[in-house]
Amino acid sequence: MKKIKTTLVLERRRLTVVRTKSSMIETYCKVCSKQVLMVSPALAAERASVPVNSIYRGIACNTLHFVETAAGQLLVCCDSLKSDLRS
Ligand SMILES: [Zn+2]
Repeated sequence: MKKIKTTLVLERRRLTVVRTKSSMIETYCKVCSKQVLMVSPALAAERASVPVNSIYRGIACNTLHFVETAAGQLLVCCDSLKSDLRS
């Protein structure tokens, strides 16, 4: 009787998708009418050395420009942040 040797190879693949919220992107600001750097309110506060509440106040008072991403993340225009600090 002839022996038949069968080798079975199992290959498993795993895809891991890690999604992070970007805290800094370059995008179009409608108020500035140009591409600008936009950052999260926390990062804006850190850059401006002010409490994050001041950033939200600036957004509410329209002294800071902002966009809301499709994922619901609020991003603040860095150019308006510089202008707000000067005033
Ligand atoms: Zn702007």
